[in-house]
Amino acid sequence: MKDAPLYLRPRVDPPLASLLGNAPLLHSLADALGSPLNVLLPEAVAANAERFRSVLRRHHLAGRVYFAHKANRSSALVRRLAACDTAAVGIDVASLEELRHALASGFTGNRVMATGPKDPEFLWLAARVGATVNLDSPGELDELAALVRKYGLARTDVLVRLSGFESDPGPGAGTRLLARRSRFGTPVAEAEKLWTALERHADSVRLVGLAHHLDTTGLEEKARALERCVLLMDECRARGLAPRAVDIGGGFGAAYVEDAGEWERWTTALSEAVLGIRPPLTWRGHAYGLRNEAGTVRGTAALYPAHRPTAGPGYLDALLSRPAPVLGRPPATLLLEHLDDLYLEPGRALVDQCGLSLARVVEVRPLGEAPDRYLVRLAMNAGDVSMEEHGVLADPVLLPRGESAPVSGAADGGPAETEGPVGVHLVGNLCLEADLITRRLVFLPRLPRPGDLLAFVNTAGYLMDFHAHHAQRQPSARTVAVTEEDGTWRWCPDENYWPLTHPQGVPS
Ligand SMILES: *Cc1c(COP(=O)(O)O)cnc(C)c1O
Repeated sequence: MKDAPLYLRPRVDPPLASLLGNAPLLHSLADALGSPLNVLLPEAVAANAERFRSVLRRHHLAGRVYFAHKANRSSALVRRLAACDTAAVGIDVASLEELRHALASGFTGNRVMATGPKDPEFLWLAARVGATVNLDSPGELDELAALVRKYGLARTDVLVRLSGFESDPGPGAGTRLLARRSRFGTPVAEAEKLWTALERHADSVRLVGLAHHLDTTGLEEKARALERCVLLMDECRARGLAPRAVDIGGGFGAAYVEDAGEWERWTTALSEAVLGIRPPLTWRGHAYGLRNEAGTVRGTAALYPAHRPTAGPGYLDALLSRPAPVLGRPPATLLLEHLDDLYLEPGRALVDQCGLSLARVVEVRPLGEAPDRYLVRLAMNAGDVSMEEHGVLADPVLLPRGESAPVSGAADGGPAETEGPVGVHLVGNLCLEADLITRRLVFLPRLPRPGDLLAFVNTAGYLMDFHAHHAQRQPSARTVAVTEEDGTWRWCPDENYWPLTHPQGVPS
């Protein structure tokens, strides 16, 4: 008896789809450069930046799209973005090394925003090159101001990051804290301290805006925070500060799974498996945070909403268009009326559809206890495609080595059903029980063979190299940048890519 396949087939848009359609190219790249291998499409990141800009234009808003560098280490993506419109596209760096990388990739300081935890060196270099510093706390403001004075730096542009947004208490109602508590930012309730600190340090820093970054997909919560910032901007102006931009951070999201029905079926099946009314869908019954309490499913699944009807630029559009809770008008209108610019810091959404990660199939073997399931070992480990870490579920795409080799086993009386859909557990190359590429049973259209490739698509946002490591001295993935011109693909190592017509330096 076979499991009915529960696919979570990935969403693949044109440039990535065309690359994926070129299996011979991907095989030859992996043959030459090894497995795992990351492949990036720098043109796609520029196209995404343009999509975000077009949403701003449609709402008549001025502003800037800052790429949250932490989503991917690549040079090609950062260099390609550096070549975009300088006024409209910037970069958000969260460490000294990311800042150095951005500068070396062609970003001038005035296009850089420094966020996240900051060492003195990071603060100094950011201020030195004229970056905008997105301040986490009044303490960080004191530290920056002291550096600016001590080293005779120019007055530095700053944003202040706020957190702990609350709903409007309403008459008689208690205050409800909406956003989850964040370790970053200054609680709105303590904003007064910030304003006085900004006034105290007016010789060293200039407030250019108010920022937040909410770790949620909830539009309501985000609209509320945006609206609150617009109102706080007025409060600042009334005190003689002159901010001009609201920075709403990132979190616009990406859709990984194409089909709503597949996502629905799989999540329903997960609940049924947790209740024990169908066989486990996962390795050793892992439940992604769900539990069975006396016949009822409890807990929240620690899963990224892999199928999303609105994500990325579409999500921004929805956020700007829906009436905000307090004033009842769309945030886009509020921003326009208050003459506020809008800054964005998309990470995942800006690198959506910008790359894939390849892994070679090394071993395929039946799983003893469940004869219709197989273990498929890959030349990659869980750090190389950190889908589990981020709760992202989507099937890899099988790229057979040859075109039409017969399925082994079928001819000699073996399991003929391996010609059809089959459930496999994808395991990594580490000598570690926990090294599973995904804890989910993955259905593939047929059983892979050693030598085949699995392509994990849309990995450029966090899934590609965020958690890559060198455990057991396994090779970490090389990364290549590919570009297509007139149907011909060219590739080069990520570090050799520059956004010129012939990125490889090959003369025309
Ligand atoms: C991580 C982060 C982002 C990017 O978030 P995404 O979900 O990838 O869009 C933006 N701003 C800040 C401050 C962040 O920490």
